[in-house]
Amino acid sequence: AKALGRGTYAEFEPWLEERDRERAQLEADLKTAIQNDEFTLHYQPLYDVELRKTVGFETLVRWHSPIWGVVMPGEFIPLAEDSGLIVALGEWIIRNAIHEASGWAEKERVAINLSPLQMRSPRLLPTITESIEATGIDPDRIELEITENMLMHDSERNVAMLHEFRKMGIRIALDDFGTGYSSLNYLRSFPFDKIKIDKCFVEDIELREDCQAIVRAITQLAAALGMSTVAEGVERESQLQWLRGEGITQIQGYLISYPVNASELSDGRPFNEDR
Ligand code: C2E
Ligand code: CA
Ligand code: CA
Ligand code: CA
Repeated sequence: AKALGRGTYAEFEPWLEERDRERAQLEADLKTAIQNDEFTLHYQPLYDVELRKTVGFETLVRWHSPIWGVVMPGEFIPLAEDSGLIVALGEWIIRNAIHEASGWAEKERVAINLSPLQMRSPRLLPTITESIEATGIDPDRIELEITENMLMHDSERNVAMLHEFRKMGIRIALDDFGTGYSSLNYLRSFPFDKIKIDKCFVEDIELREDCQAIVRAITQLAAALGMSTVAEGVERESQLQWLRGEGITQIQGYLISYPVNASELSDGRPFNEDR
């Protein structure tokens, strides 16, 4: 369709308008979802390749809507960003994830995804500090995942904030590396502890020489800069074999475990750690 204005779309493609309506309704329902306690957190193992065990978990949010069913974050996080709701939701996620992690007997790390708007919120630092004080968790068990795109604007303020976190002992991971507006300059200007290699490079790693070259280069670069690496989206043993050969620090993916909820986690460890 040509962009001839809204009326024109509606006339020839009525489904587009319906999608807009659905989006608006989803956004409206999202607004009440926090009060109604409709979110849960799932945790997916971060598996240390050398130690051959789970050393942490990434927190992944889900929305259990009475109307829409289970909604995945890929769908509602962008809406929560647009409406500004992500600040309140993000605060809920931080408090709950840290509270949950403070009870883990094996003291694994907890990784929490941050959103661009959340990074800019003056509530971020106090929310994290308060959660640390309330739970007594060791701050070096907390890892914040941020993406390259979040760093483009306001970079001086962001650098200062990341340094502030690091002074507290909190770790910083650069998420989805290689998919955003990457700049190698970021690796120099920002204090990252870890680079997460996006699953698009890992998907066919055993077969594709271009992906192999990229993953190898990132791994070497990270090592030279004193950062660790995580490969995302590892589903097969053969991927792990290849990655292990390149000295990747950690892997994450369905091979070890799907993201599990808090009660599954406390009921035992349903992971394939025997690798
Ligand atoms: P992400 O941070 O890159 O998270 C990893 C995504 O990959 C998760 O999807 C996870 O379930 C999925 N995944 C894990 N292992 C595999 C695998 O072996 N194969 C494949 N194909 N996928 C795998 P999920 O939970 O749907 O989350 C999607 C995105 O939503 C996340 O991408 C993140 O950007 C965002 N998100 C999730 N939770 C939060 C949150 O609490 N806060 C914020 N701001 N964003 C979140
Ligand atoms: Ca992440
Ligand atoms: Ca990622
Ligand atoms: Ca992603």
